[in-house]
Amino acid sequence: MDLFEYQGKQYFARYGIPVSDGDVADTVEDAVAVANRIGYPVVIKAQVQVGGRGKAGGVKLAANEDEARTHATSILGLDIKGHIVHRLWVEHASDIKREYYASFTLDRAEKAHLCMLSAKGGVDIEQVVEEDPAAIARLYVNPIDGVDRQELERLVDEAGIDAEAKTGVVEMLEKLYRCYIDGDADLVEINPLILTPDGRVHALDAKVTLDDDAAFRHPEWSDFAYDQDGDARETLARSKGLNYVGLDGSVGIIANGAGLAMSTLDVVNQVGGSAANFLDCGGGANADVMADALEVINSDPRVRVILINIFGGIVRCDDVANGVLLAIERVGLSTPIVIRLDGTNAPLAREILTPHLSDRMILEPTMISAAKRAAEIANKGSK
Ligand code: GDP
Ligand code: MN
Repeated sequence: MDLFEYQGKQYFARYGIPVSDGDVADTVEDAVAVANRIGYPVVIKAQVQVGGRGKAGGVKLAANEDEARTHATSILGLDIKGHIVHRLWVEHASDIKREYYASFTLDRAEKAHLCMLSAKGGVDIEQVVEEDPAAIARLYVNPIDGVDRQELERLVDEAGIDAEAKTGVVEMLEKLYRCYIDGDADLVEINPLILTPDGRVHALDAKVTLDDDAAFRHPEWSDFAYDQDGDARETLARSKGLNYVGLDGSVGIIANGAGLAMSTLDVVNQVGGSAANFLDCGGGANADVMADALEVINSDPRVRVILINIFGGIVRCDDVANGVLLAIERVGLSTPIVIRLDGTNAPLAREILTPHLSDRMILEPTMISAAKRAAEIANKGSK
């Protein structure tokens, strides 16, 4: 689960990482009220899960109530790389002397945690990575040993952090590591990590990805999940216990087994289609699961055709065929369906489906022919 900045800051604060005082606001008036309460100057920040908000006009300083109102108005509703801003974070503005970058993440290839630190933090960090990679110092941390203070001090020197910030940054990295480990995160990133004119080291931004598999250890995460305004299709799918990932294409896909679902995505792409989702309906593939799956896919206006690709191993194709028919009846589909069924009882399944076939319900013998047919329908744009 990716956290919004304001959630990331709540999470940081639990681990003693200094962040600015602030609050969320979903309307202009709320934003002004928060600004008045915490005191000017404030910074008003778009809460969207995408980087580069600053450059896109999603982060603005306000010196007084008028400016707060103007900026809140311009940022709410803003489209930042396809993410519409519905929520603001308003915090007391900090004075900045230097902007650094700090993060911990897992480097799977090295089988170690990786700490990255740079004295060249801020909105141009991507450019630094490209043009001056040596400006980013790296430290691998063995998960069994944890971070060592002397190694952190060396890293801070190597990164070119100002002498006056050294102790503050080392302490920050120790806290950030604790927060990353004890908090079960896959990524914690602070950019910018600032040095203030009065010598404090402070987190101005927060990017946190939590390890969903550790959710059972963290009942406190449910607040974060509740506030996620992620993909509406994914929220619906989650509520139905489906293994679903939303994508941008126009071919809705239902397959059984993650491997088959992924291969189906590949084949659809290969024949010139584009997948609207990944959906593994698992071993069940009965009428209930099928109806849930169709309902989720049907909620996506981009979907022009649904491709059902089932291999009957343990599951019997005739059960699936009956499930599909019942599910269609229940959901009231407007989208054409292409079906490919193979494996246990496939001939019986075809017999069950045959009386229902039309140009909106098509049976294809192979995965490739089904994918081609689906892509053809999707690309023609007929709904
Ligand atoms: P991002 O662009 O999405 O990474 O958003 P950030 O939260 O990192 O903000 C972008 C930039 O806005 C920072 O690099 C700072 O230069 C600036 N900024 C953010 N908060 C403050 C603040 O409190 N005071 C000042 N002076 N600048 C800020
Ligand atoms: Mn940032």
